[in-house]
Amino acid sequence: MPMKVWREAVRIQRNFLWGGLSRKRRISWVKWEDLCKPKEEGGLGIRNLRVVNLSLLAKWRWRLLSEEDEVWKKVIFARYGEGALGNANLDFMVHGNSSSTWWGDLCKLDKEVGWFNQVVSKKVGMGNSVKFWKDVWVGNQSLEHRFPRLFGISVQQNEMVQNMGVWMNGEWRWELLWRRQFFVWENELVRELGEVINTPLLSEEVDRWVWKPNEEQGFSVKSLYLWLDPLLGPRAITTPLEKFSFTFIWKCAAPSKVSALAWQLFLDRIPTKDNLCHRRIIRIEEASCAMCGGVVETSRHLFMHCDFVAQIWYAICRWLGVVVVLPPEVMILYGTLVCSGRNKRLRKGFSLVWLAFMWVIWRSRNEKIFNNVVGVVEDAVDLIQRLSWQWYLSKNAKVPCLLYEWVWNPGDCMLR
Ligand SMILES: [Zn+2]
Repeated sequence: MPMKVWREAVRIQRNFLWGGLSRKRRISWVKWEDLCKPKEEGGLGIRNLRVVNLSLLAKWRWRLLSEEDEVWKKVIFARYGEGALGNANLDFMVHGNSSSTWWGDLCKLDKEVGWFNQVVSKKVGMGNSVKFWKDVWVGNQSLEHRFPRLFGISVQQNEMVQNMGVWMNGEWRWELLWRRQFFVWENELVRELGEVINTPLLSEEVDRWVWKPNEEQGFSVKSLYLWLDPLLGPRAITTPLEKFSFTFIWKCAAPSKVSALAWQLFLDRIPTKDNLCHRRIIRIEEASCAMCGGVVETSRHLFMHCDFVAQIWYAICRWLGVVVVLPPEVMILYGTLVCSGRNKRLRKGFSLVWLAFMWVIWRSRNEKIFNNVVGVVEDAVDLIQRLSWQWYLSKNAKVPCLLYEWVWNPGDCMLR
């Protein structure tokens, strides 16, 4: 549901509650978000429509994962191909106008924050639906990424786990096949691989997807709603800085999906590992930052204090010609940067750059976690400059500037 529609729906619900069907604006005596709390917490248990909508859509995503053979799935398979079934991430499936709105919504369900990946996980049984090299099934990265050299000489690059060994007398025996003999210095790698895959993981059960919010009972709209609402639901906005920031992130040339991510970040409602840990999706031992490995990944750490990120931040500050030391809160950082612009154009421009910064950090964090791609400071800075330039041009067609001008003197371009 687009944010605008959702806001409007909430407005109608709210007005109806306080004023019946009359058109006059009534006072909301209790904050909307308090009303949405469950009754036992003093609310009225009014459900957050946007979250209800997402939970209902997610039901289809869950059913696409499960094994049941149903006609509608055959239709999906015929129309969108193999990748549509049994895949927790459907982001890559969206193909512009050729897909139906329903399918598009389904694929983009969790596009900005990637929460769907956090509520499901695959439990490997006999390995009938897990690719040995390409899927993540032991440890937290694929064997292809962990052992690229061995992957290169495997003749079973696309095989399922199940087809890469046999059961003998109740024991699993691997039968890995290689294109050539190993070099001496590869033996160590082979031994390491052997250790990694020798966990007694395989069983005679078929692989299945697990619904993490409730493993025993599996998917329910309610369990997802209860999990998502604290993550995505509304929260009170009170301080002047909050009022300014929540308004200003929408007032620049960044795409609305980017502003929406910033909005969620300011509310600390994005699935950082810390937040996932609080919701009992991962354990505290698994919550350390993927970029530096040192500290728990809170939004503060991820968007400011992480070593990798701080380097990018200082490079961006040098580029903009401003000095902003890292404060304790992400929103203060945003506010300080934006307000260091001496007029409205610069403030909008700085806001745009910060949004590009935030977007690139979140993307490279996800790239690291889900695809094990290690970020490079210089590349991230380049990307931030290029993205902010593209967004700037998209809204300021009358006073265009070239990329090299933007990189050379952004302030000058913003003031044109
Ligand atoms: Zn870090």
